[in-house]
Amino acid sequence: MAASGIFVLVEKGEALGRVRRFVESYVRKGAYGLYPEVAVVENVIEGLAENLAVHGKMYCPCADVEASKGKGAEMVCPCTPHHADIARQGYCDCALFAARDFVAAEALVRKAR
Ligand code: SF4
Repeated sequence: MAASGIFVLVEKGEALGRVRRFVESYVRKGAYGLYPEVAVVENVIEGLAENLAVHGKMYCPCADVEASKGKGAEMVCPCTPHHADIARQGYCDCALFAARDFVAAEALVRKAR
């Protein structure tokens, strides 16, 4: 089907709903929290939904999609490197998921401001 001249595999609204449900479930059941900036998180969610709609999978929005397509599931969210990235810097490269201690530390910093 076509939307605004772009061929889409999943309707954008449906894609956004699927991404939001995935993110909510991953955070509820998993080891990580959300990166503590709502606007950043929302931007990543939009990017994931865009990739799901146009490319059929939740390819990482902070990586080159065409390159990711050649890597199987490695760069489909939650991507393979996100555990190592979170362990190293406190959050995944897109700044969607973050270590719970990183989230807690950021909250303390903000409270002290
Ligand atoms: S960097 Fe984060 S948002 Fe991007 S695919 Fe990996 S886990 Fe998902």
